[in-house]
Amino acid sequence: MTNAQLQQLAEEWQRLLRIQDWDVTVRFARPVEMFDRDLLGQCRTLANLKEAQVLICDPAQAPEPMDVEYVLAHELGHILLDPLATKSNMLHVEQALHGFVHALIKLRKGDKHEEQVDLVTAVKHAGSSGNKDRAEGRTRRRRKA
Ligand SMILES: [Zn+2]
Repeated sequence: MTNAQLQQLAEEWQRLLRIQDWDVTVRFARPVEMFDRDLLGQCRTLANLKEAQVLICDPAQAPEPMDVEYVLAHELGHILLDPLATKSNMLHVEQALHGFVHALIKLRKGDKHEEQVDLVTAVKHAGSSGNKDRAEGRTRRRRKA
């Protein structure tokens, strides 16, 4: 998938999530460009400007197999949920996103959707910056116990 195709997919998901009024830029990134090397995706929002910058880890360099569409939809979901997020409920926000996005992808892809998204539960979310204008959403792979 190219960056142009990724951007197109993001626009499709913006319509599905009813966030077409946001100016979203998305591109593939190397692990060293992410907030944390083991992140599969991240979303930086500027709520007052309705702008978001999403980075999706290049699948070829990702720490493990990933579903690009799942990670993209998860990061875009942060645009809707980050205003509700606080330091103490970030885990619940991540779990809610995980459940809803999993269901949406399942509905969209049917049997083609593999359960690999369970790798992306984001349980160890580091939390947002605390600044609502710069809330940071992250998709993190499950830590190996
Ligand atoms: Zn997340």
